[in-house]
Amino acid sequence: MAAPKVAVVGAGVIGLSTALCIVETCPSCSVTVLSEQFSPNTTSDVAAGMLIPHTYPGTPIHVQKQWFKETFTYLFAISNSAEASEAGIHLVSGWQVFKNTPKEELPFWSDVVLGFRPMSEAELQKFPQHQFGQAFTTLKCDCPPYLLWLEKRLKATGVQMYTRKVTDLWELHSEYNIVVNCTGIGAHQLVGDKKLFPVRGQVLKVHAPWVKNFIRDGDGITYIYPGIHRVTIGGTREKENWNLSPDPGTTKDIFDRCCSLEPSLQGAQDIKVKVGLRPSRQCVRLQREVLSQGGVKLLVVHNYGHGSGGFSVHRGTAKEAARLVRECIAALQGASSRAKL
Ligand code: FAD
Repeated sequence: MAAPKVAVVGAGVIGLSTALCIVETCPSCSVTVLSEQFSPNTTSDVAAGMLIPHTYPGTPIHVQKQWFKETFTYLFAISNSAEASEAGIHLVSGWQVFKNTPKEELPFWSDVVLGFRPMSEAELQKFPQHQFGQAFTTLKCDCPPYLLWLEKRLKATGVQMYTRKVTDLWELHSEYNIVVNCTGIGAHQLVGDKKLFPVRGQVLKVHAPWVKNFIRDGDGITYIYPGIHRVTIGGTREKENWNLSPDPGTTKDIFDRCCSLEPSLQGAQDIKVKVGLRPSRQCVRLQREVLSQGGVKLLVVHNYGHGSGGFSVHRGTAKEAARLVRECIAALQGASSRAKL
């Protein structure tokens, strides 16, 4: 059969990394990315991009750990290469602090990040309202640079990218053999997934170059994540809230909460407010589906619903989606050889 034509719908971190994994593992495919928006206008551009996993209650922990490990290993190699600065990937050390000692002292990802340990008394003195803490080094993606780096790599391998809103996956059946759905919160409308819901997040991106360590309050709502050029401070988690407009009261609340963790942020300059909708679900939808109309079939692979942790697991889920695409190709090749007999 001719080279299978694959359309990846969506150009956030999930769509771009999935397209790259498909190109890397199925070189015979012709891959096209179709998306309503590209960087800097995706949810992925709003994210802090820290590699600290969020837990998906509907996915076995060993699977989540594997996704995180694959992502960490992939980005760690980039952070150690000459590409690091252009890709916006860097190591960052810091503290996760708790007002009360958590029941689970060791998160499942503690042996994937580097140097995970309880904080010392001397370190805890910086946080008089907290009684327990964990110190570790992890990776951070500076989001627009990382997305642009992924786009550049895709273009270098001949992948075409087009701005296009897809209103029904079936509309692609005459042009493509396989469609990969990486539309994030867009899947709510595109495939009518009622299990998918937005968790609104508002963050501030500020100029505060003296802040070098991350600080995360144990509940994950208040955080300070330094990037290469700007510090992301946050945040909010508002379930089922679709509002993309920044709220000034929330901006003040975020700023006050972060200053109580790191008082020097009072001197932060050039504050920009961003809002994004986390595509949330009990588990990531990572599965094959066959659409069929009048005897004609379209093979679909879904890869969406990464909620608060898309950056932390993107490479692991992209690899799994690429494996599902290879299964689809094998099914198409099987059907094509049967037709010739
Ligand atoms: P998106 O980035 O939303 O991409 C979806 C793409 O699909 C877009 O290009 C869109 O235009 C396109 N699309 C949608 N519908 C259609 C359609 N019908 N036709 C064509 N194209 C379509 N995660 C972490 O791991 N670490 C963090 O520190 C972190 N911080 C965060 C902070 C905030 C404030 C927020 C909001 C999120 C954060 N996240 C973090 C979560 C992370 O941002 C998401 O999990 C991730 O960006 C989801 O990526 P995505 O590619 O699925 O979605």
